[in-house]
Amino acid sequence: MKITVLSLFPEILEAYFASSIMAKAIERGTMVAELVNIRDFATDRHRTCDDAPYGGGPGMVMKAEPLAAALDSVQSASAATEGMRTIYPTPSGRLFTQHDAERLAVEEHLLFICGRYEGIDQRIVDLYVDEELSIGDYVLSSGEIASLAIIDAVYRLIDGVIRSESLIEESHSAGLLEYPHYTRPEVFRGLKVPDVLLSGHHAEIKRWRSARMREKTKAVRPDLLAESERICDERSEEPNGRNQGN
Ligand code: SAM
Repeated sequence: MKITVLSLFPEILEAYFASSIMAKAIERGTMVAELVNIRDFATDRHRTCDDAPYGGGPGMVMKAEPLAAALDSVQSASAATEGMRTIYPTPSGRLFTQHDAERLAVEEHLLFICGRYEGIDQRIVDLYVDEELSIGDYVLSSGEIASLAIIDAVYRLIDGVIRSESLIEESHSAGLLEYPHYTRPEVFRGLKVPDVLLSGHHAEIKRWRSARMREKTKAVRPDLLAESERICDERSEEPNGRNQGN
């Protein structure tokens, strides 16, 4: 998968792409990352990328021309790449979920536009953007962190990035929140690891984990339980349903 990010401050993103699992995925060729500085496409002496909003009001708006020039340059350079999807993270977008991460993980090329100030000129959204996604019901000062949140949720689902077993029982993968984890030592500050996890009895451990998942989801996110039941029903209806024989 190729990821292109358009930003006024690409240096914010550089460390992420140069570190940890993402850096390894780039090294292996599973991922290709491209950071584009929108300011490189501003044409005036001061390389201006923002202006006051028509109609008045506070703040500034990211101008259409430098953004359009940056987007055109990415599009023409990747003419051979099919299926580029352009995403504008914004608090006024649809709420991004694990389901969106799974959907986007099969795309060939994702392009993110990082907003600043009051956001970007609406005509860029009208002309170039495929989807507007919000990472939550709060307002960040810029789109770099929101873009990284989406990128991070997406790329870890791509085959070969992390071990697929790690993804199976994760929070939100089947609608429930995950069970608690423990590692050595057995006793920490008087708190002991639950006996069942030391028993070596796999069926019992599985039952205990399922019960904790339901308990935690009911306590923290009861709204997710109905969705989880829907996913379970759907899977058990598949010819090779993941629930069958378990
Ligand atoms: N005026 C905008 C509004 O009220 O909807 C908020 C603009 S915000 C200060 C600047 C930029 O941060 C946005 O253009 C967007 O790219 C990003 N951003 C802020 N909060 C976000 C969120 N919850 N989800 C996704 N992007 C967000």
